[in-house]
Amino acid sequence: MNHRLFKSKESELRKKMIQIAKLTYSKGMIAASDGNMSAKITENRYLVTPSGLFKGFLEEDDLVVIDKFGKVIDGNHGPSSELMMHLKAYEMRDDIGAVVHAHPPVITAFSVAGIDLTEAILPETIFILGEIKFAQYSTPTTKDVPKAIESLIKQHDALVLTRHGSLTVGKNLEEAYQKLESLEHTAKIISEAVKLKGGKMVEPLPSNEIDKLWEINEKLTGKRRPQKINDFTNDQPISHELISKTVMDVLKEMNFQ
Ligand SMILES: [Zn+2]
Repeated sequence: MNHRLFKSKESELRKKMIQIAKLTYSKGMIAASDGNMSAKITENRYLVTPSGLFKGFLEEDDLVVIDKFGKVIDGNHGPSSELMMHLKAYEMRDDIGAVVHAHPPVITAFSVAGIDLTEAILPETIFILGEIKFAQYSTPTTKDVPKAIESLIKQHDALVLTRHGSLTVGKNLEEAYQKLESLEHTAKIISEAVKLKGGKMVEPLPSNEIDKLWEINEKLTGKRRPQKINDFTNDQPISHELISKTVMDVLKEMNFQ
C-alpha cells in the first residue's frame, strides 16, 4: 500500500475508532479509562487507543500508531497496556482487521460466577458470535493474557476473559464492536431468564437444534463450527447446584434482586 493510500485509510480508521470508543463507553461496556481497541492499517501498522485516557472524551489525535512488535511509530501518548493481546489476535489470524477489548458487566459476571455459556442458549448467538468461549484467568497487562487467548482466538470471535472482560474481533471496527454488543445482550437475556427461574441456570438449546443452526450458519457465512479443544470449560465441570447458588450470588451482588 503506498503512503497516500495508507494515510487515507488511517484517517478513516481514526474517525471510526473515536465513534466506537464513545459508543462502547455510552453503552456501559467500559467505565472511565477501561478497555482498548485497535485496527489494522497495514501488515506492520496498527492504530490503537492510548493508555489511561477516558474513552468517553477521546479525540483522533490521542490515538497511537504502532508496528507489529508494539513499537510506537506515531502518537503523543503511550499505547494501550493490553497491546500484546491485540497483536496476538492479529498474529493468529489474517482475517482480523480490528480488535475490541471491553469490560461488559453482565457477561463478565458470568465468568466471575464460573458459569460457562459455550453451549448456545439462544439461536442468534450462533449466527452472530459462533461460540462464546471463556479464556482462563490471567493477570491483566502481563504476557499471560496473550497466552490465555492464543489457542481460543484461532477459532472464535468472542472471548470472555475470566474475571476481567471481553475480547471481540472482526474484519473491521464495526464488526468487532457489534460482537461485543451482541455478547453482552445475550448475557443480559440469560441473566433475566435465570432471575425468572429463581436463580436456577437455564438449559442450553438441544444439541440437534445446535447442529441445525451450525449447518445453516455454515451455508450462510461459510464459517465452520469450531473443533472442541481442551480448555477451562472441560477442566472444571460445575454441578447444577453450584451454578444455581453462584447465579443467585451474582444477581444479588449486581442488585438484580
Ligand atoms: Zn481490561
